Amino acid sequence: MSVRAGIVVTGTEVLTGRVADRNGPWVADRLLELGVELAHITICGDRPADIEAQLRFLAAEGVDLIVTSGGLGPTADDMTVEMVARFCGRELTLDTELEAKIAAILKHLMARFTGVDFDAVLAANRKQAMVPVGAHVLDPVGTAPGVVVPGSPTVLVLPGPPRELQAMWPAAVADDAFQQAIAGRTVYRQDTVRMFGLAESGLAETLRDAESLPGFGDLEITTCLRRGEVEMVTRYEPQSEPAYARLMELVRSRHGDTLFSEDGSLVDDQVARILAGRRIATAESCTGGLLAARLTERAGSSAYVAGAVVAYANEAKADVLGVAPGLIEQCGAVSQEVAEAMAAGAVRRFGADTAVAITGIAGPDGGTEDKPVGTVWFCVMLGDGTTVSRSVRLPGERADIRERSTTVAMHMLRRALLGLS
Ligand code: ATP
Ligand code: MG
Repeated sequence: MSVRAGIVVTGTEVLTGRVADRNGPWVADRLLELGVELAHITICGDRPADIEAQLRFLAAEGVDLIVTSGGLGPTADDMTVEMVARFCGRELTLDTELEAKIAAILKHLMARFTGVDFDAVLAANRKQAMVPVGAHVLDPVGTAPGVVVPGSPTVLVLPGPPRELQAMWPAAVADDAFQQAIAGRTVYRQDTVRMFGLAESGLAETLRDAESLPGFGDLEITTCLRRGEVEMVTRYEPQSEPAYARLMELVRSRHGDTLFSEDGSLVDDQVARILAGRRIATAESCTGGLLAARLTERAGSSAYVAGAVVAYANEAKADVLGVAPGLIEQCGAVSQEVAEAMAAGAVRRFGADTAVAITGIAGPDGGTEDKPVGTVWFCVMLGDGTTVSRSVRLPGERADIRERSTTVAMHMLRRALLGLS
């Protein structure tokens, strides 16, 4: 048996794209963790008829649970509770205890302002203390309370600001009516593996061949390309574990050289771990410091980023990193020789034992016939003299090239540190 849910994201600012939806994906993740199957995420503006249409649609689809976000504020355009009450056929009543709670919160907030007509504020906020008869109230995180309306489907109404919604979630999950709505859920396992240097089509072919493996049909597999890495997420019921093991055996035998993560860890996590006890420096040209930013994001006390140089002008490469001007003239700024000289410069400059250099053409202009936009040279240099250099031609626009470059660098660094060729 499985439990299905739908999410209704409300808010004209979200519908129009002025604010990117952060609640739908976040709640989707939480539902997935709980073993609830998500059928739909719908987005609508702050219009009563539209909100009602989405509730009707999801109920008609037979979902057991609907989660709404947004529209709990005191102003007239916030009317989710009212629409949900009407939809569930319940009257709204004033919850005086809740009203007092909101008043106390507001009093505290208003203390900072002078000349506010507190009674007017209270009147506006009385609306937020109107709850559907029989609904369970979730205490406000800001000023807006959430509600759980038991029924079929059960409707969980949450506030719009992501911080408030997220803070309210544990109380929502602990609620009796919520628990009852998801009682029949199946607990799934979910495993994530990642590959680098493999085309998505290569994995697709393997998955086609895997169709003949026993139990394969019970695995729910999604693959996607992210930052140049292929990610495969598999969901399955615990009894299908042997089927997943067989699938992974096949994936390992076909793509073992590109498979870098079987436990869901990101290359950034792995590099941070392997860097423990080392002292790394970076020298970047076309990536503007993005690699250093990625490295320092995770580097704890154990992985020490000694320093980072961003050098665009030839003089900067010469002055700061000690790259010989003649070398740049002779080989070009985007070349193996200059990448290696930049890495050597970073080692020297920061007394590092590990260095990564990136020099490339991220466009839109600056490309030539033999070095078109997207040409990037990388060099990883280790204290023991190990030097690994390579060049790639990356597709896409400047932002894509820059991001993909940092991913290539991360993987080169990982392989060099692990002693893989
Ligand atoms: P408030 O009391 O602040 O009005 P509310 O529950 O009525 O709370 P909304 O009016 O729908 O919530 O949204 C308030 C603000 O929260 C929005 O302007 C937006 O900045 C943010 N927000 C709302 N929904 C989302 C969402 N789905 N994703 C990201 N941000 C959101
Ligand atoms: Mg609002």
